[in-house]
Amino acid sequence: MERHRFEIRGVVQGVGFRPFVYRLAKRYHLRGMVFNHAQGVTIDVEGENGTLESFLQALQTELPPLAQIHSIQIESLPVAGYSDFKIQPSRRVAEHFTLISPDIATCSECLAELFDPKDRRYRYPFINCTNCGPRYTITSDIPYDRPNTTMASFQMCPDCQREYDDPMDRRFHAQPNACPRCGPQVWLLDAKGQRVEASDVIQATVDFLKCGKIIAIKGMGGFHLAVDATQEEAVQRLRWRKHREEKPLAVMASDLEKVAQFAWFSQTEANLLTSPQRPIVLLKKKPQNSIAPSVAPNNKYFGVMLPYTPLHYLIFQDDFLALVMTSGNLSEEPIAIDNAEALQRLSKIADYFLFHDRDILIRSDDSVCRIFADKILPVRRSRGFVPLPIHLSPKFEHQHLPSVLGCGAELKNTLCLTKGDQAFVSQHIGDLENLETWQFYLEIYEHLRKILEITPQVLAYDLHPQYLSTQWALEQEIPHKIGVQHHHAHIAACLAEHGISEKVIGFALDGTGYGLDGNIWGGEVLIADLQDFVRVAHFEYLPLPGGAQAIKEPWRMAVSYLWKTFGNQMWNRALPILQKWDTKATEFLVQMMQHRLNSPLTSSCGRLFDGVAALLGLRQRVSFEGQAAMELEMHLESDSGRYATEWTEQDNTRQFLIAPLIEDLVADIERGVFSSTIACRFHNTLVRLFTETAIWLREQWGINLVALSGGCFQNVYLLSALLQQLQKRDFKVLIHSKVPPNDGGISLGQATVALGKYLAQKN
Ligand code: ZN
Ligand code: ZN
Ligand code: FE
Repeated sequence: MERHRFEIRGVVQGVGFRPFVYRLAKRYHLRGMVFNHAQGVTIDVEGENGTLESFLQALQTELPPLAQIHSIQIESLPVAGYSDFKIQPSRRVAEHFTLISPDIATCSECLAELFDPKDRRYRYPFINCTNCGPRYTITSDIPYDRPNTTMASFQMCPDCQREYDDPMDRRFHAQPNACPRCGPQVWLLDAKGQRVEASDVIQATVDFLKCGKIIAIKGMGGFHLAVDATQEEAVQRLRWRKHREEKPLAVMASDLEKVAQFAWFSQTEANLLTSPQRPIVLLKKKPQNSIAPSVAPNNKYFGVMLPYTPLHYLIFQDDFLALVMTSGNLSEEPIAIDNAEALQRLSKIADYFLFHDRDILIRSDDSVCRIFADKILPVRRSRGFVPLPIHLSPKFEHQHLPSVLGCGAELKNTLCLTKGDQAFVSQHIGDLENLETWQFYLEIYEHLRKILEITPQVLAYDLHPQYLSTQWALEQEIPHKIGVQHHHAHIAACLAEHGISEKVIGFALDGTGYGLDGNIWGGEVLIADLQDFVRVAHFEYLPLPGGAQAIKEPWRMAVSYLWKTFGNQMWNRALPILQKWDTKATEFLVQMMQHRLNSPLTSSCGRLFDGVAALLGLRQRVSFEGQAAMELEMHLESDSGRYATEWTEQDNTRQFLIAPLIEDLVADIERGVFSSTIACRFHNTLVRLFTETAIWLREQWGINLVALSGGCFQNVYLLSALLQQLQKRDFKVLIHSKVPPNDGGISLGQATVALGKYLAQKN
């Protein structure tokens, strides 16, 4: 006989971990106990020699789908003579802390029951078990127990209670456990809030969708607006009512076979589509598909997801090719979660509302990912991933660290709280430009503080004095506040998710970030670690005529580049786009720049993409940030050409010159080269420039590690070509796979820099 005590840390609560341990213990005829406590789960077992080994093996290899083990400590103890194996009640210690699981798609066992006419939950839209269902979005406090969830108002019937109490049952301690007799229900309303009488409301919903109606459907982390994705007129109506002119709309299809009818996908993409996280995955469109053109205009990709709640599966039982499933909001506002709120906010968009009475406590949008080099490249990190932590560099382990709040940036905002060496990045909050989004920010902050039991002692914020998150940070009564430069935060975010703390060559390429000199940075090369950075190269400064207006109107940037390159000679160029621009307006812009009126300086790389898109005639005005740059990427056709790369060097800092590049590019346009070829040559030029820069920096600094971050690296052509070139020259390259390269990752970077500075100060 032997006895071991296993101390397990990780995601081990509310995920069926203890019943799993119980079943394993029974299998190997072990005796002892399992219980939850402050740091995780303890298993104390004894049995025949050798069986403990098999038990440990099975513990790691047969984990329930949602459980994650981060560490196991094993201790041998004298045999205690236990008589059986027991699940002991949670030990509530003062510092109770276990992770809440993210929300997870319906598992295959629940799905089988959902469509089994003999099952007592046949066609019940809220079927779930310990392996699936809502978690984060219904939990108000820890520990994760039913009274702390929005299921508290539903009294379990005896059948449900029996499952809930039985350690051998799949629904043992499944907090959202319910059935048609005792659980939440669905109902259908029209836009005036009148109940639609129907014997089967799901069938009625399906019928309305087939007629091209727009239905607001309450989901897991908020409302969706659904419409048949094959009906062009209906999709246009949705766009028009939602004030969403051009941004692509996500679609949901019932299974991979349906997806294959309109989009290409690899095995890795298929795995991600069917993963328990069920994100929206960006997939290449197939030519001649039957999805309405208005779903994703000017885009080579569709955002596609598979059903992830029982309600979705029931709706998709009917033969839709795909439904548009876009966030239930007006453009730029947060997604609606409450029935009354949805009716009020969405009644001008939706024709009908499919409601239910399981409340959503905290909103969480669908996550959006691309697959790049067989790995996830997150675009928006929310449902399915939040609130799992990111484990920071081993440097931070076993240190007594203050809890830090990273306040995030302005667009695509998230916030981040640290606890020890773990960083918890919030779900996508959105652009902090309206009151609703700002309230959502504060709500998430309070929510995360509560479930993580953290009061931050340090605030890390962006240097931009006009950012709402910065202004708020400066008002807080928290003594330690650390301003973190935007692009340093980008690079630090990339380092943080790889657990790296050493110095790297960081390429931070994006649209806008406040620079140390007060200019708008955005095409930055830094030598950086978690504590500090040096700016070693950047694009030369150019005026941004009209400031923020130039972000909405890429043609303004194009004028700025032409003026820089050709001066007064620009009027003599045979550029077709010059004829299209209003001459007076163009002259006015030039005057503005000459007199330095409302023309802040920028080294932005994102603006360069915008300006080139405008020069090529692709887009003069955008309706969402990054649109022109995205269309430039979508537009390119493979070519091996490129343009001049030149720079000046001063005090070991390089400034990349714009004029030689623009001169070559304009000459190509005048020569009648296809704009798709020019788009590719432009990309190739940047790849060449950055590769040359990396090689120079390796010589100067002896650093071989490169980190790529910033919104420009959502551009998969740029990312893959640069990665390939750098790897060819034996660089080790870090790219994002946990948080987005865009500003959604800034909060993680800020928090990590604050910790880096703290440690440096302490030692
Ligand atoms: Zn299940
Ligand atoms: Zn029940
Ligand atoms: Fe940025």
